[in-house]
Amino acid sequence: MNDLNLPKVKREILLNPGPATTTDSVKYAQVCPDICPREKEFGDIMKWICHELSLMAGKDIETVLFGGSGTAADEAMLSSCVPDNGKLLVIDNGAYGERMAKIAGVYKLNYEVYKSSGFLPLEGDKIKEKLLKGKFTHLAIVYHETTTGLLNPAPDICKFCHEHGIVTIIDAVSAFAAISIDMNRDCFDFMAATSNKNIQGMAGIGFVFCRKDALDKIASYPMRNYYLNLYDQYTWFKKTGQTRFTPPVQSMYALRQAIIETKLEGIENRYARYSACWDILVKTAEKCGLSMLVAKEAQSKLITAITEPLTDKYSFDALHDLARENGFTIYPGKLSGANTFRIANIGDIRPHEMQGFCELLETYMRSIGVVQ
Ligand SMILES: *Cc1c(COP(=O)(O)O)cnc(C)c1O
Repeated sequence: MNDLNLPKVKREILLNPGPATTTDSVKYAQVCPDICPREKEFGDIMKWICHELSLMAGKDIETVLFGGSGTAADEAMLSSCVPDNGKLLVIDNGAYGERMAKIAGVYKLNYEVYKSSGFLPLEGDKIKEKLLKGKFTHLAIVYHETTTGLLNPAPDICKFCHEHGIVTIIDAVSAFAAISIDMNRDCFDFMAATSNKNIQGMAGIGFVFCRKDALDKIASYPMRNYYLNLYDQYTWFKKTGQTRFTPPVQSMYALRQAIIETKLEGIENRYARYSACWDILVKTAEKCGLSMLVAKEAQSKLITAITEPLTDKYSFDALHDLARENGFTIYPGKLSGANTFRIANIGDIRPHEMQGFCELLETYMRSIGVVQ
């Protein structure tokens, strides 16, 4: 989108899993007069952002904004939502689940880790059994494991949690605004997301979505940190219309524009566009005889981990550089023990652009003798 009569910004297609490609209108939204963020005018913009984000997550949801990346939102949530006498189970089936466990460790929460394969679907029944046997009070789970593209059955497990009075904490950083979420239907009490993934804004804002009744309960929990305290940030903003500390002003303007564009497209249509790009990628991978780490049925269709060809002629750096010279940025794999590269198809990308990348991928694979 660029009907601004401003020069087009050089197009770079980011096929890394965030920050994602943005529209020119989102980029230009950051160019505006200097403003002191303590002015009511700016507070009103943040209120509007919170209101609109909350609507995307369900009814009676409160959104709390922090200056910080997605991990800041994860940390705010984990450090603020578990009382001293609580017991947390963290599901780890990839780098982001592992990160949540690390955060729980740093804050010395009473927690255990449930470890599962990085590429096979989670076994929900085993987790449910563990939750009951261990008398857990809280569950933390990543909805979409960006490490591999594995989509976890978070709504199913969280529904079970609610039937048993267990509070649910979800890292939906790479799911929100692509996969349709209703925190009441899906039984998510707290959920983290960020400004620079599927919502297609700029980096710099982490948000925590809270079901109002769950949020009210954490008011008396110990304050284990200061900047990232969820309840303090929430109440201060409610009272004053201001964040406690300097917000990332320009990222907020970009986020406002990104929200407008998300509403115009619609989250379901956005997922359809992302999926259309994924279809093109998968067809090309199959044509080149490349296999994917995760079975198609278990994939999010938002990022794909592709197994590297076995030939010595293959070099990720060479593929990366060829792509980069042509305006595409790709990303290495992240799951230890599996040699993969990853292609994300989130952000402001169009099927014809994914097609363009796929032609390059095929050319490269042909040049190293992987495909005829
Ligand atoms: C991107 C991402 C994060 C946050 O990463 P930051 O670099 O802190 O923005 C957290 N969880 C998941 C699942 C992610 O994909």
